[in-house]
Amino acid sequence: MKEIILSGMRPTGKLHLGHYLGVIQNWVRLQEDYNCFFFAADWHALTTKYDKTETLRQDTLEVVIDWLACGINPEISAVYVQSGVPEIAELNTYLSMVTPQNWVERDPTLKDMVKMLHSKEGANSHVSYGLMGYPVLMSADIMMFNAHAVPVGIDQVAHIEITRDIAGRFNNIYKTDFFVEPKPLLNNCSLICGLDGNKMGKSYGNDIKISDTAGETSKKIMSAITDPARIRRDDPGNPEHCAAVFKYWKIFGTPEQVENTEYECKKGLRGCTDCKKQLGDIINEKFAPIRERRSYYEKNVHEVTEIIRDGTVRARAEARKNLERVKDIIGIYR
Ligand code: SF4
Repeated sequence: MKEIILSGMRPTGKLHLGHYLGVIQNWVRLQEDYNCFFFAADWHALTTKYDKTETLRQDTLEVVIDWLACGINPEISAVYVQSGVPEIAELNTYLSMVTPQNWVERDPTLKDMVKMLHSKEGANSHVSYGLMGYPVLMSADIMMFNAHAVPVGIDQVAHIEITRDIAGRFNNIYKTDFFVEPKPLLNNCSLICGLDGNKMGKSYGNDIKISDTAGETSKKIMSAITDPARIRRDDPGNPEHCAAVFKYWKIFGTPEQVENTEYECKKGLRGCTDCKKQLGDIINEKFAPIRERRSYYEKNVHEVTEIIRDGTVRARAEARKNLERVKDIIGIYR
């Protein structure tokens, strides 16, 4: 029996290279060794964007299309949308009863969410009851499938702690060992910055999307900020002062290409325009098969909805089985 892994993503629409390198690439590797459940977290999206739902359905679809294009295999992994598995909401109710209020209030996930909300919408933006319950809902997502592990970055390890605590408390209160305390599975993925050197993000306008065409990608890379000391083509440069391009070389280039770039930049043997053009070609070559698959799924959306339907059936079967056990353990009438 393979161990179970659960991971999800908010349906924010078309994904960018940061999502690919930081999350999806890792999922693709994990699905070979684990029984994986991947979900689009649409209820989580509502915790902060309950009043901006015009594009939620399409955004959900776009996220799943990106996953499939990048190599998530629905034959071996269950791909579903959170709201398609209502058992999670019921488990969330039971877990809410056993979770002390102060655990939720001190949870780093919630603190991050509130901070993000305030920075985007001002200090007076209200924190909803649903947002306050975010850590418990996240725990229900994980515990619904009794996941053994959750892939996380080094800065997210603490986010899994509350789930371990809730699972332990439930087991303790009801004298059971039913719930697994999930462990964080550290991924060592490359972090990619945006074209301006800051964190890559759709809202910052500094991202390259997985779905961008080769032409769009090359054009975006041409706009990247480079070493400001280089005015003329043969001015010696410093790759470490190049906001994004050299960092991208380190991610997408071979060690030899990185070494050449550094040498030619420092000696003033390569102009920034040529450097960006070469880099754009390399990135486009890497993403060509992904974009081809993406274009296929865009033209065959019915296949994507079929994949989500199948994934939901698999996820619900597992969820129902676990929920019945939970209800029996608690003593709920059924
Ligand atoms: S040559 Fe390349 S690495 Fe050097 S500053 Fe220009 S874009 Fe950056």
